[in-house]
Amino acid sequence: MNEEKFIRLKKNFKLRNIEVQYFETLENVKSFILNIIPIKCTIGIGHSVTLQKLDITNALLERGNIVYDKELAKNREECKDLKKKALITDWYITGSNAISIDGQIVNVDHSGNRVAAITFGPDKVIIVVGKNKVVDTVDEAIRRVKNVACPLNAKRAGFNPPCVTLNKCVDCVSKERVCNSLSIIEGQSDSNRIKLFIVNEECGF
Ligand code: SF4
Repeated sequence: MNEEKFIRLKKNFKLRNIEVQYFETLENVKSFILNIIPIKCTIGIGHSVTLQKLDITNALLERGNIVYDKELAKNREECKDLKKKALITDWYITGSNAISIDGQIVNVDHSGNRVAAITFGPDKVIIVVGKNKVVDTVDEAIRRVKNVACPLNAKRAGFNPPCVTLNKCVDCVSKERVCNSLSIIEGQSDSNRIKLFIVNEECGF
C-alpha cells in the first residue's frame, strides 16, 4: 500500500470514528499493545493466523492480565465458555479477513463469536491486519473474504466446504460451511472503541 492510499484509508476510517495506526512490524504492534493496555484489564482474543503470529496471549498472561482465549481451552465446553467470557472484556484483540480503503471492515465467522465481539461487548477493540488484507472497496473485500480467506481458513480448521477444493465460493449450504456470519463494520458511534492497526507485513490469509 503506497502512502497516498494509506492517507485515503486513514481519512475514510476517521470519518467513520475508527482510528487507524500504521506499524512496520508485528513486533512493533505487540510492544505498542502491551504499553496501552493496563495490567488490571481483562482481554478477549479473537483467534486468527495473525493473532497466532503476534503471540500476544502469553505475553499478557505472563505479566498478570486475565485473558480469555479459546486456544487455552482443554475441551469443547471450556472453549465455548472462553468465547462467551471474551464478549464482556475491557479489551478485545483480533485480526480481520479484509479491510477496504473506502473504510469498511469485513469478516466472516463460523460460530459468530468474533464478529459479535467486534460489533458490541468489549469496551475497546484492537484489530490487527497485514498489508495483504487491504483492498479498495467493500465489494472487493467480500470477494477476498469468500474466495481467499474462507477456503484457506476452512482447510486450516479441518472443515471441507466446496471452496476448499474449488478455490472459489459457490455460496454453499454445506454442513461444513465456515462463513455462517458475514459482518461489515461501516462505522462506530464511540470514536474511542475500535483501533485498526495496519502492519507492513503479510499476515494470515
Ligand atoms: S459459502 Fe461455502 S463455498 Fe462459499 S466461502 Fe462459505 S464455505 Fe466456502
